[in-house]
Amino acid sequence: MHELGIIVHITKTLRSVAEENNLSEIASVTLEIGEVSGVVHDYLTDCWQYYRKKFPLIENAEMKIETLPAVTYCEACGKTYPTVEYGRQCPWCKSPETYLVCGNECNIREIEAQ
Ligand SMILES: [Zn+2]
Repeated sequence: MHELGIIVHITKTLRSVAEENNLSEIASVTLEIGEVSGVVHDYLTDCWQYYRKKFPLIENAEMKIETLPAVTYCEACGKTYPTVEYGRQCPWCKSPETYLVCGNECNIREIEAQ
């Protein structure tokens, strides 16, 4: 999976944010992870525990994860529905002409400085 890649990317972002704001230590970082992003939360946390030790800036930073619900839009009838429950087929009109509106995210929502 790509969990370690996500952590490496987040760490880069945190370092540049810290540099811009003259932060020497980050207390916590909150991530928003989409329901269908395929990211395994436990594995992401494990990667974080291991990787944060490399940088004094984030050594003691706690990682919090918030899940964003996945929503799919149906082009045929214009309605939206929960992706995890119904998959690619619209539960209203049974059309397969649907696309994911959100639920694939992996964003930093909040950074707390020490
Ligand atoms: Zn529909």
